[in-house]
Amino acid sequence: MENRKEDFSKWYNEIVEISGLIDKRYPIKGMNILMPYGLKISQLLDEHMRKFCDQSGIEEVYFPLLITRGQLEVEFEHLKGFESQVFWITRGGTDKLEEELSLRPTSESAMYPMFSLWIRTHGDLPLKIFQLVNVYRYETKHTRAFLRDREFHFFEAHTAHATFDEAEEQISQYIDIWKKLAEVMCIPFVLHRRPDWDKFAGAQYSIAAETVMASGRSLQLATFHQYGENFAKPYEITYSDESGESRFVNQTTYGMSTRLIGGIIGTHGDDRGLLIPPDIAPIQAVIVPIPSKRDPVPYANKLKGILESAGIRSRVDSRDQYTPGYKYNDWEMRGVPLRIEIGEREVTGSTATLVMRTAKGRKTVAESELANEVLNCLAQVKQKLTESAAEKFRSMFTTASTLGGIKEARGAASAIWCGSRECADKVEQETEMTCLGNRVDIQEEGNCVVCGSHGKLATFSRTY
Ligand SMILES: [Zn+2]
Repeated sequence: MENRKEDFSKWYNEIVEISGLIDKRYPIKGMNILMPYGLKISQLLDEHMRKFCDQSGIEEVYFPLLITRGQLEVEFEHLKGFESQVFWITRGGTDKLEEELSLRPTSESAMYPMFSLWIRTHGDLPLKIFQLVNVYRYETKHTRAFLRDREFHFFEAHTAHATFDEAEEQISQYIDIWKKLAEVMCIPFVLHRRPDWDKFAGAQYSIAAETVMASGRSLQLATFHQYGENFAKPYEITYSDESGESRFVNQTTYGMSTRLIGGIIGTHGDDRGLLIPPDIAPIQAVIVPIPSKRDPVPYANKLKGILESAGIRSRVDSRDQYTPGYKYNDWEMRGVPLRIEIGEREVTGSTATLVMRTAKGRKTVAESELANEVLNCLAQVKQKLTESAAEKFRSMFTTASTLGGIKEARGAASAIWCGSRECADKVEQETEMTCLGNRVDIQEEGNCVVCGSHGKLATFSRTY
């Protein structure tokens, strides 16, 4: 396996396959097979999102995959933003379709004609829904598993509100949900308000959550968009207020994709392989029986039963063609947070030996204490991952007070920017770093590193 620090990109491309997350051999560019291990991580992330949405009163729906050309053409800016990325279906069997159908690139144009039927009065508001579906985008750039695919799993929440202020509150609620998910993934991030020319097609403004990978490139993980009335007008989504007057709704969205998995790989992986945060690890503890005079497998299975009862996801690796040493390396490479070794000593003494993926040393515990000790170890792994990711993240940010300072940054650069496109373009021409926008969490003002006029703190970074 490639050394991660020396060539992150090569390491990444290799680890996604050898760890069993995906198989890239499917014959369509940008469309990979999600293998059981990778799919399970995706499903566990979905479970968390379903729970957080449920707690926030956002209900799950399912909209059809296909969208008519007419639906897509209603909002011009939106169509323009996606035009070059849409896959079109032009035939049904041997018939040429009367109206071309697109595979959803995102679902505004599928949902909003229905919103205009569903919403009648202020009593129908707020309307808050989400779906977890696959979307399709015809990427012409170099594709990369989980980071830039042509088919990918997508979370999208869509809401409609009576007033702009209520829509603003919704954006805050989205950010709270995102923070909970980032905590589950142990991923540090910063929030940026995108420059106007880079906001989502049709949005009033967009906020994005970004992390920085070991390659020094930033990765956009989640976006929150304030639409105001921009979609309500073309899609005619109106309600009658208390006095019976017809008004346009204000809308928001929240989007995330399989990039989350790319972020997890890039944030926590090391030279030994992946490291999956315990809350979303398909296997939280792997039990490895060490062959001896007394067959350890029945005892290993008993321990698995104990863990299962405590809600811990585990597996007994009883493959007899491999040595225990091979299995240790294999599960470390696949990022299982905890290993449980079962040899003769453990069978005889009714104990288990625990080894955390994030720490050196072993710990032998009594069978009666197993579940508690495992939960304790998983909590320690989570804490360690959170801390080391935060430390790496901080080291990836350089504060720059000049253009030269931005150029020298190994990862992302924090610098004052006046907000003009000219200055952002100048930075990009000289450093190849894109302006991600102003920081949402820090309000710092000063002089623009390019033109010297008044500005606010922004981030510049190479991106995925
Ligand atoms: Zn400037």
